[in-house]
Amino acid sequence: MSTPISDRPKPPAPECPGNQVGPCRSCQHHTHRYGLGGNPLCVLCTRELEAWRAAQK
Ligand SMILES: [Zn+2]
Repeated sequence: MSTPISDRPKPPAPECPGNQVGPCRSCQHHTHRYGLGGNPLCVLCTRELEAWRAAQK
């Protein structure tokens, strides 16, 4: 089970060339996914992951 995408906030639009934009691996919103500084997760999911990791210890 996972959180419905519609219940989640939208990350800000990526500020990178369009050819480096791709869907977030977790929420599918567009994010700076490829190239220099790219991340498979959007900023919101990255933040959630960091919060989750911090809560594991
Ligand atoms: Zn995301």
